[in-house]
This record gives sequence, C-alpha cells and structure tokens, in this order.
Amino acid sequence: MAYDDENVFARILRGEIPAEKVYEDEHVLAFNDIAHLAPVHVLVIPKGQYVSCDDFTANASDAEMAALMRAVGKVARDLGVVDSGYRMVSNTGPDAGQEVPHFHIHIFGGRRLGGLRRQAGGGE
Ligand code: 5GP
Repeated sequence: MAYDDENVFARILRGEIPAEKVYEDEHVLAFNDIAHLAPVHVLVIPKGQYVSCDDFTANASDAEMAALMRAVGKVARDLGVVDSGYRMVSNTGPDAGQEVPHFHIHIFGGRRLGGLRRQAGGGE
C-alpha cells in the first residue's frame, strides 16, 4: 500500500491541522487522540512516512524504531501512568480497523481498561 500524504497524521506533521502535542523529537511526534477513549489516550507516531506497523518494522531505520519505543516509555512516564498501568495498541490493516494509514501506537491509561475482550478500541 502506497503512503497517502494527505492522511490526517501527515497533515498534523506538516502543521496543517492542530494537535495537542505531548512529546516531539527528531523522529517522533506524540499527541492527544481527538476522541479519547481513556483519561490518557495519546498517539505516538514516527515522523517518517510509514503506512503501518508492517511497513515501519520492514523499512524504518534502527534509529527511528528505537526512538519510537523510547518515546512510548517517556510519554507514559511523563503522564504518570507507569505505576497505575497502561496499554499500547497498534491497529494494522482492515481486520484491526486501522483508520489512519500512518503508523501509530495508542497509549491508553488513567482508568481500569478491562480485559482484552473489552479493550479500548472495540471488539467482542
Ligand atoms: P486507528 O483506528 O487508525 O488505530 O486510530 C486512529 C485514531 O486517530 C483514532 O483514535 C482517532 O480518534 C484519531 N484521530 C483521527 N483524526 C484525528 C485528528 O485529526 N486529530 C487527532 N488528534 N486524532 C485523530
């Protein structure tokens, strides 16, 4: 799947759409989800143009991959959800219901999230 540079996260990265940024570095941007499903609901995205987790893990540099995971940890620490706990979710493709075709990791926290069948993001 080719990268669509008009997707909403590409537009956020270009500053065409506002976002509530919580973290940024050379490779990564993290911002609050516009329709938050938990008190903490942050999206962590690479700045590079990767459609999905599959594209990212196949094609991103080691530096980009390391930066993304470091950013997830930092955001969780900065937002104070390490002790209470948090969940990372990344939807890839149709069966997972990926809506935005730019790789992103959701961080959910700040409340009891329930088991996998009731996880934020839907499902049975
Ligand atoms: P997906 O279903 O692709 O894993 O998640 C996409 C997420 O992007 C959804 O949780 C949705 O609320 C969020 N989202 C969609 N458009 C925007 C936007 O314009 N700004 C922000 N901050 N989040 C968005």
